[in-house]
This record gives sequence, C-alpha cells and structure tokens, in this order.
Amino acid sequence: MTADGRARVKFPLKLDRLAGAALPAQRTLLRPQRDLAAVHADTHRRAAPAGLGLDSADVRRRMAERLREGGIVEPGILAAFAMVPRHEFVDAALATQAYEDTSLPIGHGQTISKPSVVARMIELLFGGANAQRMGNLGAVLEIGTGCGYQAALLSEVASRVVSVERLKPLHDKARTLLAPMRSNKLRLVYGDGMVGHAPGAPYDSIVAAAGGAALPDAWLEQLAVGGRLVSPVQQAGGGQALVVVDRREQGYERRVHETVRFVPLKSGLDR
Ligand code: SAH
Repeated sequence: MTADGRARVKFPLKLDRLAGAALPAQRTLLRPQRDLAAVHADTHRRAAPAGLGLDSADVRRRMAERLREGGIVEPGILAAFAMVPRHEFVDAALATQAYEDTSLPIGHGQTISKPSVVARMIELLFGGANAQRMGNLGAVLEIGTGCGYQAALLSEVASRVVSVERLKPLHDKARTLLAPMRSNKLRLVYGDGMVGHAPGAPYDSIVAAAGGAALPDAWLEQLAVGGRLVSPVQQAGGGQALVVVDRREQGYERRVHETVRFVPLKSGLDR
C-alpha cells in the first residue's frame, strides 16, 4: 500500500492476477489472445497490405502490359487484368508475389492459376464462334472457383458467369472476396462441377481450372451450339494439355493445344 491507501502497482504487471480482479470488459482487453471469430473474420477481409504499392493500378497495368507482350490481344481481357486486384485473392503473406507470373497456394491443396495461363484460356474462349461476340463471352460456366480470381476476370468479359467449387471453405472464401462485386451477373455455386450446372445451361463458354482424364459429358451437353469449351485434360502419354471443343450444328470439334499443369478434377463434394 502507498501512503494514500492505493495498492502499489508492481512492474512487470502480472496479467493473470490483474485479470482476476478486473471487470469483465477489462478482462477482454487484457486477454493476450484474440477471439477466434475475430481472427477468422480477419483472414477473410479484403484489406490490401499497406505500404506495398499493390493497391495502385500501375502494378496491374504493368501485368496487363506483360500479358500483351506475351501475345494476349483481346482488349477486354487486358482491361480485366488491369482492373481486378489479384493481391486481394491471395494470402497477405504472398501478396508481394501477386503480380508475378506465378501460381500461388490458396489453401486446401489448391492454387490460384498463373496469370498468363488464365489469360491464355480466356483468350482461347474468345476464339472460334465466340470470336463473333464482340468482346463478350456470353453465358460462362467456370469449373473450380478456387479463390474467385478468374471468376472476377470472367465477369468483366461476360454477360453472366456461373462458377462452381466443390471445396466448401474455398467457395465460402470466394463468396466473401467477391461480395463487393457480386451482381446478378455472377453466381457462385457450391457443388460438384463434374455435372456442370444444368439450371444455367446452355453456356456459350465453359472453362475448367482443374483437369481430369476426360471431359465430363455434362459439360459437352451444357455447351450451347456455337459455344466453346476450354479445359485441361490428361493426355495418354502423361501430363495435361489444354483441350478446346467447339460445338457446332453438326457435332463437336476438338483440338489439343499446349501442355499445362492444373490441379486434378475431383468428383463429389468436400466440406
Ligand atoms: N479459377 C481458380 C483456380 C482454382 S484451382 C482461381 O482463379 O484461383 C482449381 C479449383 O478447382 C480448386 O479450387 C478445386 O477444388 C476445384 N475443383 C476440382 N474439381 C472440381 C469439381 N469437380 N467441381 C468443382 N470444383 C472443382
């Protein structure tokens, strides 16, 4: 006790003893660990790490410029890359790499695809009959929402987008990340993309971010006549290649393009 009768405060403060005596509100303040719900909410927030210059449009414009140098010609694709903030779709710890041409982990064993590959796939969608669409891919089905980056890009060049993801945590994450831009144009579906999404069919464009041994029949059925599908497919000799399928009045026309490496297409749902 001090002379005026107040308890003498000893340093360092013993938090556990103080907490025992504190009022409930003070106890919360003194608790060294954060509430789990708050931590969870934080991992889903759309905050750009401050001070890295990633929130500037310049870094995105430079990425779009590199894609153009790499052969991407469709102006709508370049504009979408210049606009959608990729760093907000990856973990804050990886944000400094967000504008490099690299795939990055997004958790649950999945990855956000490499920008040049995403751009190439969208450009392939613009080819074929879609070439007549004047910068618009029409109704798009995306298999494998992942973190939602490609879905955001697609929304910039389509009339509507349905994106399906089989991993619940990733579907939820994409839902949160895309909330600010979700309009009636973009629909995120938690489901097995192997069966496509019949309620939204037919689709003018179908794109898959995961590759299986063969193209599921449902995708071919849900592709509109005059539409185009782009997907990685496992090749007989091993490895995957990008496969482009055009649906015409007379049937399907299939072409195999360059080799790629995507995560496997899996069936069923995961919580
Ligand atoms: N387009 C994403 C890429 C995500 S990686 C992006 O921009 O980040 C591919 C995703 O496909 C993974 O999240 C994986 O869970 C998902 N996937 C694999 N098989 C699937 C299936 N049958 N249905 C729906 N999603 C599937």
